[in-house]
Amino acid sequence: MTRVVVFTTGGTIASRYDADVDGFVPVVSGDDLVAAVPGVQVAAEVEVVELANVSSTFLTPTLVFEWCRTVGKRLADPEVCGVVVTHGTDTLEESAYLFDLVLDTHKPIVFTGAMRTSSELISDGPRNILTSVRVAADPEAAGLGVLVVLNEEIHAARDVTKTHAEALDAFQSPNLGPLGRISRGWGEDHIRLYRAPRCREHITTDRIEPAVAYVKTVMGTDSLMIDAAVTAGARGMVIEAFGGGEVTPFMADGIDRARRAGVEVAVCSRALRGRPLDLYAEIGEGKWLRDHGVHFSDSLTGPKTRIKLMLALGAADPADVGQYF
Ligand code: ASP
Repeated sequence: MTRVVVFTTGGTIASRYDADVDGFVPVVSGDDLVAAVPGVQVAAEVEVVELANVSSTFLTPTLVFEWCRTVGKRLADPEVCGVVVTHGTDTLEESAYLFDLVLDTHKPIVFTGAMRTSSELISDGPRNILTSVRVAADPEAAGLGVLVVLNEEIHAARDVTKTHAEALDAFQSPNLGPLGRISRGWGEDHIRLYRAPRCREHITTDRIEPAVAYVKTVMGTDSLMIDAAVTAGARGMVIEAFGGGEVTPFMADGIDRARRAGVEVAVCSRALRGRPLDLYAEIGEGKWLRDHGVHFSDSLTGPKTRIKLMLALGAADPADVGQYF
């Protein structure tokens, strides 16, 4: 028998209708959540640890970094073959990517959640827990980094993002597609993995830098938010640039001031797919940003670029942060 530890944290998957507040709230305990999944104890010997029971909107990178250590310690037990983390879907992709960068293990770590609460007809939570436990118990899923399993699909934490506010197939990997899927079979589902991620990264650090600001570029954006973040003590800043990796010329002075103040700046693309480029040379464009010491995030989304910069700033002196980008 294989032992899988399910760490529960809250979110829609643990939510139910509460008449007092006339809305959904996360109140289902970890034990009750797993007990409601038919067949889960057949898939593996399941142990439940409740880390929290909150909406994932309440989480901070510092708290998730602490959870990473707790999960890492439990994974070191030779009896444990893998773990599942149940999580609210709003920030699931950030926590999964944080775990992916920090935890250096071969054992499967699977994040899952749900788009429907247990109070709604046809909740996806129990099925997502069952398939996630199956993936965590499967030796085929080892060495692939942190996985995100929802709606019968297996995604790499680096690639996946929530693409829909309420649909069951909300989680997708727009750049590269899923790694595999859970396919129906007689008696038992089959885990079908079709590809392995090649660009896995790891950051060794005992600290995460919380003071990393986030600025989005839209038509006509100026330096107001950039300057405000620097004044407020930001150590790092992620700028979500236009699709090709450019910001407006009105942000250039602010970026220059931020760099002179010692703030590490990383740029990502606001387009759903692709990466920022350093081909255009006018003020605020990719070549200009590169020449001003701005880091480029490849095909990471903005929220994941921020997690990476926070960990990189925790791991290294600002001058050495560039090695991670
Ligand atoms: N607000 C919820 C959360 O992220 C949404 C969800 O789980 O789908 O915790």
